[in-house]
Amino acid sequence: MSDSPLLMIPGPIEISPAVRAAASGPPPGHLSKPVMAAFGRALTRMRAVWCASDDSQPFVVAGSGTTAMDMAVANLVAPGDAVVVVHTGYFSDRMAEMLRRRGASLASVTAEPGDAPCTAAVAAALDDLAAAGTPARAVFVTHVDTSTGVRVDPQPLARLARERGALSVFDGVCATAGERFRMQEWDADVYLTASQKAIGLPPGLALLVAGPRALERRAALATPVPMSLDWHEWMPVMKAYEGGRPAYFATPATSLILALDAGLGEVLEGGMEARWAAHGRAACALAAAWDALGLRSLVAKPELRASTLSALLYPEGVDAALVGKVLEHGVVVAGGLHPLRRSEYFRVGHMGYAITRPEMLVRTVDAIEAALIDLGRRLDRGAAAAALQAALAG
Ligand code: PMP
Repeated sequence: MSDSPLLMIPGPIEISPAVRAAASGPPPGHLSKPVMAAFGRALTRMRAVWCASDDSQPFVVAGSGTTAMDMAVANLVAPGDAVVVVHTGYFSDRMAEMLRRRGASLASVTAEPGDAPCTAAVAAALDDLAAAGTPARAVFVTHVDTSTGVRVDPQPLARLARERGALSVFDGVCATAGERFRMQEWDADVYLTASQKAIGLPPGLALLVAGPRALERRAALATPVPMSLDWHEWMPVMKAYEGGRPAYFATPATSLILALDAGLGEVLEGGMEARWAAHGRAACALAAAWDALGLRSLVAKPELRASTLSALLYPEGVDAALVGKVLEHGVVVAGGLHPLRRSEYFRVGHMGYAITRPEMLVRTVDAIEAALIDLGRRLDRGAAAAALQAALAG
């Protein structure tokens, strides 16, 4: 067992030895052969991971998930555009704030923390905007909100947006490569993420795929886009690399590009359905462990619970001190994040490499069990790991 604590927060996450090796050499030049080959392959692999069409455009830029969100807003929305935001927590609030700063006129569809608005409420918001003579330009949705562990079903929302003539934009930062998403089949327009979550890399890359309608919208946009986020600046670079030619607009994070190629290769190993199913199985097995520990989810409706993280209510007599106690047992978990309920729950990330390593999942539930016992809960030592292993075997 390694001495360093096991990183089981909802990003950054534990990464595979192959990805670590790919990122750990001396930084290569951005026009070097290895970077050219890796960049081109990574872009093609992104389409496969996103299940996106051949005419969609992947973008890889240095930054984080927030950069990718800003990129979507800046390339699609002009001041005065009406947009709908589907709120499921902290990160939909961030998207709403970005849209406000861009000068958009927002219609917010909200739900209590731990819940999600129903599709009918989103349809009503779109219909109200159309009736007022300001049809929505786009619908913005967080696939999995990391602050609450709520996962929405993107497919009906993408369909609804299409039917009403709006673009659909999905923040997949805590979902992409861990939760089912079929960009082409579902006709979604933008799906974005960051490198440090289920893609399985260190932090540092903003990743986004834009479908053909989103690219058309950028072409028609009269408002300037901040240069570092502009698809028009980046598109020739992405096309060049995918065509096997080097190009420059702004220096890419070259070490991470090598890691991205390796990481996406691992994601695609058994196909995307197998990848999503593995995350689902790990989440179910962990749910059995949480039951054994008497831990309840912040998300009351089981169908809204993400496969990539668990948001767990502190049991009677336990508070945020639990997070520090779990660390004493060698595992890093995260505290609550939603401003209205922050002190009531903690979060465990389970995506990427760790879900392929049962020993990491065992170590996690074991540390949480030990910490709960330290804090006075009466539990049978080993029960959580036994429940987890039985579920994984079953
Ligand atoms: N959206 C979601 C759903 C997230 O989970 C996060 C990060 N936790 C972000 C956006 C922002 O990403 P970053 O921290 O990489 O900027």
